[in-house]
Amino acid sequence: MSEVDKVGAGGPRRITLLIRHAYVITMDDDQRIFADGAIAIDGGRIVDVGDDAALAPRYVAARAIDAKGAPAHPGFIECHLHASFQLFRGALPDQLAETDAFDSFESLFFNTVNDEEEYLAVALAAMEMIRNGTTCFLEAGTVLEPAAAARAAEEIGIRAVLADPFIWDQPQGFAQGMVAAGCGACAAEARVRPTLARAPQTRDEALALMGRELRRNRDPDALVTGHVAILGLGTASEALMMEAKARADAAGVVLNLHQSYSPADTAADRQRFGKDPLLHLAEIGFLDRNITFGHANHLTDAECDVLLERGASIAWAPAASMMWGHGGCCHGRHAELWRRGANIALGSDSANWSNDFDLWRQASLAVLTAREAHGDRAYLVAEDGLRMATRAGARAAGLADRIGSIEVGKRADIVIHTLERPEMIPTTNMIRNLVYASRSKSVRTVIVDGRIVLEDGAFVTVDERTMLAGINEAAKGLFARMGRTVEPNSLARPTRPR
Ligand SMILES: [Zn+2]
Repeated sequence: MSEVDKVGAGGPRRITLLIRHAYVITMDDDQRIFADGAIAIDGGRIVDVGDDAALAPRYVAARAIDAKGAPAHPGFIECHLHASFQLFRGALPDQLAETDAFDSFESLFFNTVNDEEEYLAVALAAMEMIRNGTTCFLEAGTVLEPAAAARAAEEIGIRAVLADPFIWDQPQGFAQGMVAAGCGACAAEARVRPTLARAPQTRDEALALMGRELRRNRDPDALVTGHVAILGLGTASEALMMEAKARADAAGVVLNLHQSYSPADTAADRQRFGKDPLLHLAEIGFLDRNITFGHANHLTDAECDVLLERGASIAWAPAASMMWGHGGCCHGRHAELWRRGANIALGSDSANWSNDFDLWRQASLAVLTAREAHGDRAYLVAEDGLRMATRAGARAAGLADRIGSIEVGKRADIVIHTLERPEMIPTTNMIRNLVYASRSKSVRTVIVDGRIVLEDGAFVTVDERTMLAGINEAAKGLFARMGRTVEPNSLARPTRPR
């Protein structure tokens, strides 16, 4: 009697995919690791996980992958990402003032970009994330045409949680990049920010748009789902914030917004609320478990206490803080809050803010900068970075019941590395090798919702080489229409020979 003949007669169960001989880092509540492990997947779900020798005989799989001893872990979950700026990655000179980034680049981009270019930008972001072991992203609500983002995510095969774009009702309150010296709010009032032609201009327009992406959640198997986002950074009235909260509550999704990003926008919020921003947001009933703040780099002691008490999440974007010198890593409270039990996820932000969508890099930076800031080698350990990128990310994206760990019943979003990288050798401790040495370099095969998206380092879903060449051409065309050229950094001249 063959193996297949036994199926259905009390013999092995038929499944779609079996991963064998993996060092399985489950990220479950017991933090189980199976050194010679196997994962059984049927359709989009994990149906079994355990020791290979015990598990493998119970299944007959349509496809099998032999991990050859390499680590497998839950796909990473990116929780602060602007998916559509990728077409001008690298365009901003290092000396550009932050205010000018929006006023002279981003606003021009949003007033020029078309739907096809947004599709290509999100496809580029998605390919980069998959290659780096990220299988899901929470978009920050800045893709003008979410249908273009959804099409890109579905074609590449990445899980996406989208929102309606630019939900704001006081765009002139945008305090990002304003000089915080003296009074940030006064500075914000003094400068007229460019308008975005396709973004809402009034509260009524914002309310008419808000929540449209939630229709995606009617399909329980949808790869692309919806949440509610508002931009934040001083651009939302309290009335709009509370309506967004009500709609997120009613839909059972997270409400995602920028908060306390820079000293300037934190100062502007403190001015308008008359107290620490998070204290005010707690008082009005906004601060809650389903709130996910992007950045939150500048919090007071009292704000840390109230954030912990209310159970809100933060998407910490270490590289974005470091790139723009905002002190989020020197003075940010993320690592301290994490040690006290807060839900701290990770984010890459955007092109020109961190310039790469690689949560392995963010996890590594989070662990190392926390140690540096606190002068304590043990302040965060490698496993903290892994947990922020998986379990904490799943909760911050509102998907804790679906993804974030390799457990029976969860969606099969799994990353398999290779040991055929110098950084993974010797195989002393897989987790320390991953976090400190190889990071995303050893990502080899990526599975999303049970579907192999990247196999042995090659995309299954798209012709990557053709896509990249086309995206590069499209970026040149967009820049020409924007009327911009890319300037090199101006190099400071030493006054005497070094
Ligand atoms: Zn952002």
